[in-house]
This record gives sequence, C-alpha cells and structure tokens, in this order.
Amino acid sequence: MPEYFKISGGYVYDPANNIDGQVKDLWICDGKIVEPPSDPFIQPNRTLNASGLVIMPGGVDMHCHIAGPKVNAARKMRPEEKRRAEPVHRTSITHSGTLGSVPSTFATGYKYIGLGYTTAFDAAVPPLSARHTHEEFGDTPCIDKGFYVLMGNNHYIMNAIHDEEPERVKAFVGWLLGAAKGYAAKIVNPGGVEVWKQQQAGNVSGIDSVVDHFDVTPRQIIREVSKAVDDLHLPHSSHIHCNNLGMPGNWQTTLGSMEALEGHRGHITHIQFHSYGGGEGDENTFNSKVAPLADYVNSHPNVTVDVGQVLFGETTSMTGDGPLGYFLSNVYGTKWFSADTEMEAGCGIAPIKYRNKSLVHALQWAIGLEWYLMVEDPWRVVMSTDHPNGGSFLAYPQIIRLLMDRNYRHEILKTVHPDVVNRSQLADLDREYTLGEIAVITRAGPARILGLKHKGHLGPGADADITIYTPHENKETMFELPRYVIKSGIILAEEGDVRHEFYGKTLHVAPEYDSGIESSISKWFEDFYSIRFRNYPVSDSYLHESENVTTG
Ligand SMILES: [Zn+2]
Repeated sequence: MPEYFKISGGYVYDPANNIDGQVKDLWICDGKIVEPPSDPFIQPNRTLNASGLVIMPGGVDMHCHIAGPKVNAARKMRPEEKRRAEPVHRTSITHSGTLGSVPSTFATGYKYIGLGYTTAFDAAVPPLSARHTHEEFGDTPCIDKGFYVLMGNNHYIMNAIHDEEPERVKAFVGWLLGAAKGYAAKIVNPGGVEVWKQQQAGNVSGIDSVVDHFDVTPRQIIREVSKAVDDLHLPHSSHIHCNNLGMPGNWQTTLGSMEALEGHRGHITHIQFHSYGGGEGDENTFNSKVAPLADYVNSHPNVTVDVGQVLFGETTSMTGDGPLGYFLSNVYGTKWFSADTEMEAGCGIAPIKYRNKSLVHALQWAIGLEWYLMVEDPWRVVMSTDHPNGGSFLAYPQIIRLLMDRNYRHEILKTVHPDVVNRSQLADLDREYTLGEIAVITRAGPARILGLKHKGHLGPGADADITIYTPHENKETMFELPRYVIKSGIILAEEGDVRHEFYGKTLHVAPEYDSGIESSISKWFEDFYSIRFRNYPVSDSYLHESENVTTG
C-alpha cells in the first residue's frame, strides 16, 4: 500500500495552477504531490492540520552565491566578520556553522530551509572548479541546488564565435555543461573579464567594444551563446550579467544587451545594478532608468529578469566580474581579492556597506523596488538580492513587506537620502503585491523560467516541496519564520528548527551535443590547460544525490 500524507484545510496559493488562496487539501505520496485517492475509504497515514495557515510551493532562489571557489575565498577573506558572526549551534541532527554575510555551507542550507526556500542556484562557477563546487554542495544540506557555468569569457567559445562557427559554439556549450554537471550557461561581463586579464585595469566599455586578441564583441558573445542555448533546448535561457555593472549611464548597455539577444531567450540578472542613468564618474547626475528598460521587458516576452535588490547594511561583494571587484575596492577603500581561472573566467571580492544616507546607495535601493513595481507581468521578474551582493537572502521577508505594504514603503523612503524622490519614480508607485503575486516572484515564476517542471507548483507530479506560513498583518513577520517547511514530503523545518538530516539533490543538465567536437577540445586541453581532457568532466558517480533535468 502506498503511504499517504495529507495537508488539510490550508489557504493554498499555487499560481501555476490558478489557485489563489482557496482552501484545499494536498495529498503527498513518495515525495510527490498526487491526486487525492479515488477510493474515498483510503485514509492518509499521516495528516497535518493547516487550517487557517497559508500554503505555497517551496521557494526557489534562481540567483545567489552559495558555493564554489569565490564563495570559499570570501569566507576566508573576512576573519574580522566571521569573528562576530552569529553562530549556528550544533544539535543531534545538525552541524555547527556561522552566519555573517557569507554563511558556512551547513548554515546556508539550514537558513534557506528555515526561510521556506527548498531550491537554490549558485550563479557563477568556473567549469574548471565544478568538482570542488559539487563537493561543497555535498555539505549544503536540506535544499536542492545547482549552478550556472561561466562561459562569457571562455577562450574556446570566443575563438569559435570569431571563426563564425555556430555549430562549434553549440557543441562546446553542450559538452561544457555536461562535463561540469552544471544547470545553465552564465555570461558575466562578456569579453570584459578577458580584457581585464590582459591589461592593467582593463575592461570593455560597451557591447560593441572589441576584445583584444579575439576580435569579438560582447554583442556577439551574448547573441551566439544565447542562440546555442536555445538550439540545445536547455531548460533555462542564457543567464546574463551585462557589461558595465554599477556604472552611471549603464542602462544603454543593458538595453543593447537585451536587443543583442535578437529574439532568443535571455535572463538579465540583478538588473537593478544595470539600470543607471547619468554621466560617468559624476554622482550628481546619477538617476534611475528603470522606466525605459521596464518598457522593453514589458513588450519583449523573450526577456526575463531578477532584481538584485540592495538592502542597507554591510555585506561582501563577490562576482565573476574581475574588473568590478577592483572598481568596488577603490570605491570603498577596502581589501580586495582577485583571481583568474586559466582560459575560462575571473573573479573579484570586496567587503562593501550600503548606507541609507548615501545618494547612490539609496537610489540603488529604490531602483530595485521600481523593478518589482514596474514590470507588469510578475512571471517575468524574480525576487533576488544577488545574495550576498545586494544583501543576504535572509532579507527576502523585508522585501516582501516593502512590496505588499505601500505605507511601510513610503515610510522607509522618508528615511533615505532625500534626493531619491527626484531621481526615481518610487514615490509615485502605489502598486501593492498580493500574496498570489508574491508566490509568483519567489517560487512559481523562477521555477518556470528555469524550466523546472516539478517545482514552483503544487499540482500532481510536483515535488512535495511546500512552505506553510502563519498569516500576519506584518508580512515580514509572516515570511521570516514559516510554521512548517516540507521538503520532498518530509517536514524538514518547524519555525526555523531543522527536524531531520536531509541533503537534497543536485539539479543538472546533460545536453546532447555533436561528439565530433571532442577531438578538437582534447587537443585544446593538451595544448593549453593545466588539466588533462580526460580528467576534466565530473562523472555521475562523483555527485551526491542528483537529477538530470535535461529537456528538449
Ligand atoms: Zn550574482
């Protein structure tokens, strides 16, 4: 006999199935949501009474930094922060750990599940470090996870684009994702990281700058990689961190990057950092350009975005955008870490602090909120802080309150730098999110954008990843400590306390590609890499629990 677990009587928010707060029972069997048994005499083996509580699918964080070489470097780089970081105490079920802006692996898993998030994706892993990242995932409990593979500055790809060989780009992207056991193709400051690696303080200036030695432009890299991703029928589109992050006037680069897709699917990440007007190096002209960019997103369904909301306070910036790390360390006058990964990628890390009385920081905060409020279709804008770059994922409940309660939002607006009201439209935006729309931007939407058919909804066949909240007038209070979090059908957390040892699985793709390319890649490795071709791919047996999500 199958074992049934029934959750009864809760208000269900399941926007993918058009359920918006109706009282509905959920039946679970073998870790999946199932139809209620047709035989009315079948009783569930276990029932959870959720009367009066709010039920949503488990949260899906589609852009955060939780594993891989730069996350680990950031943990080591800030002992002064780790010394005062809040500890996570060991129990009979859990390991010890620390919080701070870059939590330890174990603390990361426990805090995500405690917050009601059941799936998270690290957004920037050099494929050469994929093996290490999978090791770290093995120590990141409770949640399902995956990572995106950096390829916007990869020498092999830039050469193939220069040689106008789209089939070679496509085969290489397919091979690389399978070799790394990654989930999606990530483009970070296309071409710009390579120029940084070549020249002191180098970068590209816009999407039509030419990358020295490769004779390709960011526009070509965006277009060709995004085309390859579509041609491979990958579940997620290309995932793009545009050029000129953080620079006044960069909104035109962002608009150009969306146009460079030429109709292919593309996800523009942490778009808040890419929506600035004003002249270079002139703080007095810095302003919001969300309006024209949101117009473009609203009228182009091939484009999706996540926000990268800034919250006030201290954090650690970490990025695959090498020149950006250098720029931030100059702005903040802090220590700085930089590394190159052979012919693949770069990275920069710097401690930063967002202050509400700083005009630039207050505008960044407002620009993030404008994005949520000015994209008409909540299915195409996703909640993120680019953890930990704009703030911690633990700030999501605060963002929810800002979106659901305009009075609160206007009160906070009064406490930040006064010029923000003249340089952004935030003060004029009265929109308030509903609970159903919050369910879209935190789980249903990101799951759909990622092509995760079994996540982000509560219909039959979905993974039984479920978060149950106690309703509260103050939405920050409601969302920061869910009453129950169910992962794969198990009640894994209750009011933040982890109840079982559970590791979750790694989500990855294994695209079909033209294997004729392997002899050329093998020669490339023999000539240039520090590692043998045959030692590079991560084998299935190396992963802990995993699921191949390839579609097509
Ligand atoms: Zn990021």
